[in-house]
Amino acid sequence: MEEFPRKYTFRTGIKAFLDLIVKKNNLSVIHNSEVQSISVKDSLYTISTNGETYQTKKIAFATDPQTTGRLLKDIAADISGVLSDIQLSRSESLNVVVEKDHISLKEIAGIIPMDDAFSSVVARDTVLHPLYRGFTFHFEDGKKTLGEQIKTACEVLNISEKDIVEHSSTKHLLPAPRIKDMNIAERIDTHKDIYVLGNYLYGLSLEDCALRSAEEYKRYKTSLM
Ligand SMILES: Cc1cc2nc3c(=O)[nH]c(=O)nc-3n(C[C@H](O)[C@H](O)[C@H](O)COP(=O)(O)OP(=O)(O)OC[C@H]3O[C@@H](n4cnc5c(N)ncnc54)[C@H](O)[C@@H]3O)c2cc1C
Repeated sequence: MEEFPRKYTFRTGIKAFLDLIVKKNNLSVIHNSEVQSISVKDSLYTISTNGETYQTKKIAFATDPQTTGRLLKDIAADISGVLSDIQLSRSESLNVVVEKDHISLKEIAGIIPMDDAFSSVVARDTVLHPLYRGFTFHFEDGKKTLGEQIKTACEVLNISEKDIVEHSSTKHLLPAPRIKDMNIAERIDTHKDIYVLGNYLYGLSLEDCALRSAEEYKRYKTSLM
């Protein structure tokens, strides 16, 4: 992928790129569906979600390592054991929207603090909006209440709470592999009908995730020959 730009900002967010892939390839995507268990009989996998059951001969996982490990417990105990052991780190973010006229902070890409009041801020100033500015504050999970997070945001942005037009919160889950978790891919690419994708195989970045997906797709194509 070296021929592609290393840094890119989507004007309408990265979801627009994913929506395009789905549309272009006429893919069927089911939202708000939680896979609860998977079983296998005569090489046919049965996937049970909160409401539906699906059957398939080949299956790919793109969930965090512990969820994938749990779902694989009864169908591939060897892979399950490796993945269930990978630690996770949790964080949360507060997104705030402010009217442009109510904030004097000059345009920024982000902020890295000297203390631990928050982990970082990412600003939306790279994609300017005629009326509003947006900032995402990242915090360690569970360290501050929503009220305390909003207070921190107001102090950093030098605004008052009433200047916040809208805010929302998001929880994040990221793998925290240790040295013993190196070369996971070599240890789990052992089943010709099971594919494992995600940010704990080659690295955390979206590029790493895309590279892993491309490799698993190659393995899938080879298995059809
Ligand atoms: C705050 C933050 C900022 C980042 N910024 C950057 C950046 O600027 N550039 C960059 O390259 N990378 C960045 N990253 C890293 C990158 O975004 C992630 O590594 C990548 O998105 C992970 O993709 P994934 O598909 O492996 O996992 P996820 O995006 O976590 O997807 C896993 C999905 O599985 C779903 N799921 C879980 N359990 C089940 C179940 N039982 N049934 C069905 N679905 C389930 C979850 O709902 C989730 O949608 C950032 C990460 C964070 C947290």
